[in-house]
Amino acid sequence: MPSRSDDHRWSQQHLSHYVEGELGPRARRRLERHALDCVDCGRGIRAMRALVYAVQGLGGLAGVRAPATIFDRVRLAGAGGSPSSPNV
Ligand SMILES: [Zn+2]
Repeated sequence: MPSRSDDHRWSQQHLSHYVEGELGPRARRRLERHALDCVDCGRGIRAMRALVYAVQGLGGLAGVRAPATIFDRVRLAGAGGSPSSPNV
């Protein structure tokens, strides 16, 4: 049986992999079970998750979705063509 401090060190090393979904099912369960009664690791998961989502959210907004939508609207409004058949 691994000791609790071994679990803690292992979990700290795998927090980012866990949040990014790169751990196998057994490793995920090990980390989740440890995080249930380890304040540090529970907090670490939440912090890491927030960070990952923030990075992904920024990338999606700035890089792809918003500009495409805005351009489509501008084109439709400017062309005065047929809004009933949008070019999507
Ligand atoms: Zn821990």
